[in-house]
Amino acid sequence: MYDIVIIGAGVSGSSIARELSRYNASICVLEKGEDVCSGTTKANSAIVHAGFDAKEGSLMAKLNVQGNAMMEQLSKDLDFPYKNNGSLVICTDESTRPGLNELCERGKKNGVPGVRIIEREELLKMEPNISDEAVAALYAPTGGIVCPFNLNIALAENAYTNGVEFRFNTKVLDVKKQENGYTIVTNNGDVRTKYVVNAAGVYADAIHNMVSENKMKITPRKGEYCLLDKSAGEHVSHTIFALPTKMGKGILVTPTVHGNLLVGPTATDIDNKEGVNTTRAGLDEVISKSAITVKNVPYRQVITSFAGLRAHEEHHEFIIEEVKDAKGFIDCAGIESPGLSASPAIGVMVADLLKEKMNLEEKEHFIATRKGILNPEDLTLEERNELIKKNSAYGNIICRCEMITEGEILDAIHRPLGAKSLDGVKRRTRAGMGRCQAGFCSPRTMEILEREIPGFTMYDVTKSGGDSAIVVGTNKDRV
Ligand SMILES: Cc1cc2nc3c(=O)[nH]c(=O)nc-3n(C[C@H](O)[C@H](O)[C@H](O)COP(=O)(O)OP(=O)(O)OC[C@H]3O[C@@H](n4cnc5c(N)ncnc54)[C@H](O)[C@@H]3O)c2cc1C
Repeated sequence: MYDIVIIGAGVSGSSIARELSRYNASICVLEKGEDVCSGTTKANSAIVHAGFDAKEGSLMAKLNVQGNAMMEQLSKDLDFPYKNNGSLVICTDESTRPGLNELCERGKKNGVPGVRIIEREELLKMEPNISDEAVAALYAPTGGIVCPFNLNIALAENAYTNGVEFRFNTKVLDVKKQENGYTIVTNNGDVRTKYVVNAAGVYADAIHNMVSENKMKITPRKGEYCLLDKSAGEHVSHTIFALPTKMGKGILVTPTVHGNLLVGPTATDIDNKEGVNTTRAGLDEVISKSAITVKNVPYRQVITSFAGLRAHEEHHEFIIEEVKDAKGFIDCAGIESPGLSASPAIGVMVADLLKEKMNLEEKEHFIATRKGILNPEDLTLEERNELIKKNSAYGNIICRCEMITEGEILDAIHRPLGAKSLDGVKRRTRAGMGRCQAGFCSPRTMEILEREIPGFTMYDVTKSGGDSAIVVGTNKDRV
């Protein structure tokens, strides 16, 4: 019997797990994917929003501003890429200026530091590629960008190091109320626990509805993107938003922490909770609407497109509370944007809630820091030579686009909660994220996975677990 079971190892579940791992409690995370970061956290804009967008007084606004303020220190403690690049909301039509002013006032009321309106002249100095139509902008100096994969992975690794158990490929099928807790029915057997945290992303409604008569509905709201090569990464330096609409924050243009340019997302409500395909219409919309705020985006440099699903609940608010008719069952639902930005604060909020309910005591030896995968590019030439002399795997380049070495891939596989698939390696190291999109390095990474994971054959190497095997037979099988 666990004290706490968390359903979902996205950024919310992993942040909650890490914050709860400060206390003496037995904690288990159940994840249907083969790795952490298999849901919405793997496909979003990766912006650490300043917090001017959410309705004043809302939980969303409060946790966004708190999470933003926590992110920089967290990135140092857990060693993941984060950059405070500031954000700009562009007004391209004088008639919409009242909307911009309103956003600025909301930002101030939400407690966003330093938020102010700037005029075209100042804006042009900050962003030479801004649209010729731009008349003014809202500048939020605390806006940032983050690597969502490594934020999620770092939180989970640190939780694991502090004693949290993770069970992957474990899908929750049912949750049954018992006299003193819950029985969670999974495809890998039953799990007993005193408390449950529901952090299941777009499926949080299904999990909630297993225990409550007050039904919840989460609508997947798809957002499609174009990702451009690093050669386009300096087209803008801030995150550039259009004025938001009811459906979201509009099409943004932003550099990523790794130096690419990201443009998107659209916002379309769909039925399919696995519907992460991109569409011609969606990408056309991305391209045409981005031109409203930024000119001459070099679309010939697109290296891939992708889509993510927002977990939209009709009230557009984070739902973080004990379910009224299910004592000991905590929802962490409706975590759409700015969920990534708010994630550090979401973790603290849920941990505080359970600490109080369960009288949790702090551990004597909580490990607050974690070291990420060593990136030889951060070393001087001399240091890199020394490293290669000690470990020749750091001299063997596997991904030539991103210059990722065998040493980094071995680290990704053998560290806590290590990579087991091509995507697992990719999200931890960036091998396969470059211009050729894994065309050249996949077979070499597959050989390393086969060699390094005990019991693995080439048939066990998958793109992302489940039925995504890459090798399904040999040429001779077909004769
Ligand atoms: C297009 C788009 C753009 C966005 N941009 C931003 C942004 O720029 N900044 C920002 O702050 N936020 C942004 N967000 C929001 C942010 O990505 C999410 O709020 C955040 O990633 C949600 O994390 P989560 O852990 O709650 O959900 P998820 O990452 O989806 O994790 C839920 C996990 O639960 C697992 N799960 C589901 N059902 C079960 C089950 N039955 N059993 C076991 N496991 C289960 C899933 O496999 C998944 O791993 C964006 C979202 C989208 C879609």
